[in-house]
Amino acid sequence: MSESLKPVTAIKAPVHLEFSYTAGRASTRFLRGMAQGKILGQRCPECGKVYVPPRGSCTICAVPTDVEVEVTGKGTVTTFCIVRIPSDSLSIDPPFTCAHILLDGADLPFFALIQECPFDEVRMGMRVEAVWVPKEELGPTFESIKYFRPIDEPDASFESYKEHL
Ligand SMILES: [Zn+2]
Repeated sequence: MSESLKPVTAIKAPVHLEFSYTAGRASTRFLRGMAQGKILGQRCPECGKVYVPPRGSCTICAVPTDVEVEVTGKGTVTTFCIVRIPSDSLSIDPPFTCAHILLDGADLPFFALIQECPFDEVRMGMRVEAVWVPKEELGPTFESIKYFRPIDEPDASFESYKEHL
């Protein structure tokens, strides 16, 4: 096939955006927790839902969520996708798996990479745990958690997480 007939599958676009992010009170507490190797959420005083990361309010009850709770780094894969497209902005080669993980004690899934598991073995209900960066590398960022990996626990039942998909 001549070069002029080949489909264009990708382009490099030199786009660069620089901005400052103001975390706000709820996110600041969450990010400071990450710097200490803790996952902090907030519980709604009315419905009891635990938001991780916290948003500062409950979107259902429209009230502030000012009760702080710490959740463990263990959770359940609720949904996932296998990424097969390479990206210059990622330091990982495809295929790899990204998943929504419902941390134990939380009511909002957390988006993260799954590693230490073949991509085609990741499944809904799989139990996983957070793998943190070394203590000296912890910081106020989501990147304090490198990824999640499977743990030797039976899969969670669909009933236990179906309300969190
Ligand atoms: Zn609520």
